[in-house]
Amino acid sequence: MSSRRTRARIWSTRGGTPTRRGTPCAGGLAAAGTRVEDVRGVIVTHAHTDHYGLAGRIREASGAWIALHELDVPLLAAAECDPAGRLAGLLERVGAPPRLADRLVSRARTRRRPEDLPHPDRILQDRERLAVPGFDLRVLWTPGHSPGHICLWEDRRRLLLSGDHVLPEFAVGLHEPAPGREDPLGGYLSSLDRLAGLDPAEVLPAHEHRFTGLDARLAALRAHHRRRLAQVAGALRIGAVHGWDIAAAVTWHRPFEELRGFALRAALQDTLACLGLLDARGLVRRETGPPERWYPRA
Ligand SMILES: [Zn+2]
Repeated sequence: MSSRRTRARIWSTRGGTPTRRGTPCAGGLAAAGTRVEDVRGVIVTHAHTDHYGLAGRIREASGAWIALHELDVPLLAAAECDPAGRLAGLLERVGAPPRLADRLVSRARTRRRPEDLPHPDRILQDRERLAVPGFDLRVLWTPGHSPGHICLWEDRRRLLLSGDHVLPEFAVGLHEPAPGREDPLGGYLSSLDRLAGLDPAEVLPAHEHRFTGLDARLAALRAHHRRRLAQVAGALRIGAVHGWDIAAAVTWHRPFEELRGFALRAALQDTLACLGLLDARGLVRRETGPPERWYPRA
């Protein structure tokens, strides 16, 4: 991203309102001292709609290129952006009670028909240096929250733009395991390790607030996932076999039976991510479903 002036400005497209009218991000860009017409490129950390949703409109308004990691390109398909369809598949996979599943899916239906999100013009490579005037940006591939999530490291100012990979307070959800990307938790933990020792002056996440002390936050996130993994393994030991029942035995920020919508989806995906890691370590046996069944290996 760059402004008309010699020094580029970096800002977030997140939080903009994806309405059909008006200039996208006008307020945020004005606060950064620039305009949408001056945007030359949009580097997106991952393809979730609250991050990528305005990218196409910014490209239309400015001619800017859009850059994304290739493993997130499949997430731009309409089916991936359809909350009801995704929830239905997930609930079937984990063996949710059918009547409850029907109720939850009809509640998740939106009036808007899901559409494909526009494709990027550039595919980002891990370790790629990005030519952004005034900044020395390097791409760090950090899968887990999404398969192609990236962070950006700014070497001169020692800043880490952490996207949704590391937030200061909330532990982000992990993507649903799928063929070819079966172990999101393993990928996430490796991605945390990758950031250890970077020692940024400041971390700029995509939600919450900027913060310092990255290594302490990485340690807290590792401990959080270790606890959750232990709870999932414990549920398997006492005979839970479906993802739904295993998730019900895990401690969430509120009781499992009260989780709805996005929070429920995130909890189920995180449970499957734990199971994916146990599977990758040879500690569980999976019977394909739907619903899938999981058994601890002796
Ligand atoms: Zn996200």
